[in-house]
Amino acid sequence: MLDYIIVGSGLAGIAYAETLLQNGKSFKIFDNHSQNSTLIAGGLYNPVILKRFSEVWNAKSQLEIADNFYKVIEQKIAIKLDYKIPIYRKFFSVEEQNNWFIASDKPKLSSFLSTKIILNKYNGIHAPFGYGQVLHSGYVDTAALLEYYHKYLINNQWLIENTFDYTDLQIFESHIQYTNLKAKHIVFAEGFGMHSNPFFKNLPLNGTKGELFIIKAPDLNLDVIVNTNVFILPLGNNLYKVGATYHWYDKTSKPTKEGKQELINRIKEILNCDFHIVDHFAGVRPTVKDRRPLLGTHFKHKNIHILNGLGTRGVMLAPAMAIDLYDYIENDKPLDRAININRFES
Ligand SMILES: Cc1cc2nc3c(=O)[nH]c(=O)nc-3n(C[C@H](O)[C@H](O)[C@H](O)COP(=O)(O)OP(=O)(O)OC[C@H]3O[C@@H](n4cnc5c(N)ncnc54)[C@H](O)[C@@H]3O)c2cc1C
Repeated sequence: MLDYIIVGSGLAGIAYAETLLQNGKSFKIFDNHSQNSTLIAGGLYNPVILKRFSEVWNAKSQLEIADNFYKVIEQKIAIKLDYKIPIYRKFFSVEEQNNWFIASDKPKLSSFLSTKIILNKYNGIHAPFGYGQVLHSGYVDTAALLEYYHKYLINNQWLIENTFDYTDLQIFESHIQYTNLKAKHIVFAEGFGMHSNPFFKNLPLNGTKGELFIIKAPDLNLDVIVNTNVFILPLGNNLYKVGATYHWYDKTSKPTKEGKQELINRIKEILNCDFHIVDHFAGVRPTVKDRRPLLGTHFKHKNIHILNGLGTRGVMLAPAMAIDLYDYIENDKPLDRAININRFES
């Protein structure tokens, strides 16, 4: 008898698998590569919502947990994942500079927003009003996390690269059975793929499509992430990741002509140097109506659980949410009402 089956090995499934390992629990994890949100994500972590100058929900504790989580995984799989580089918000006016200073004075934001105006000059960017620096920011190389953590799972015979067929799940009072596997619990972490899941498909996971580029810009000399309407993230060798768009109707993971044009237009608002597109990706973020994760247990089946709804911030959220769900299932620690799926029960 296994302790767990996990369905989905994106950021959510990996965070839960790692939490199980750290607690000495056994599991098998399924993935069929049908969703690619984690694979193509920008990977940025930023404790401040720069559009509204507000703190990301529970940012401080999420950052602390995530910092330790990625450190442990980096050691385990011997790959660098967490790049702690500053995010610079480019100012377009004196008014924007003033708004930054007002925000940096707020108690919840003061530890995340530097009060100095940065006047660095970067080839390829005209920024006469300078930049504001977000502290405690950076990015996680989510594609490397997937590639190397999956290898680690495969080497230990924990990952099953196959579709989980919901019709084959048998539910008993004390355990579940799937083909020849028996487990005490099952955790579903399929990202936007949740819509095929008969147990949870009614939850309001809207999904928001995003597209991004890898560009080559030999005349740009950026060593920080610049964020305005899009982010520009240096990858080395004159390559930059640029994104992302937000679309609410198309739920496919296919890059589009419209997305491409939108990104080109936005890049041209920031860069005044030449660039060409090396790659173009798209994916669906698992976003929820009320912008909070979806955690908890099926209202009828006590051994069927969900870890989803990481939305636009999976990098910061996944490690903390995995611990919350684990403590809820194993240690009877109540879930915050803001993230518990029972908030949608009516
Ligand atoms: C363009 C874009 C940019 C983004 N940028 C950022 C960013 O900068 N910072 C940030 O924090 N977040 C970002 N995100 C969001 C982030 O990617 C997500 O929050 C996170 O990756 C969600 O992880 P997940 O594991 O829930 O879902 P997924 O990554 O979608 O993983 C779900 C997994 O479940 C598998 N699966 C589904 N159904 C089945 C089944 N029946 N059987 C077997 N396997 C199944 C899928 O194959 C998939 O691997 C971005 C997303 C996009 C699309």
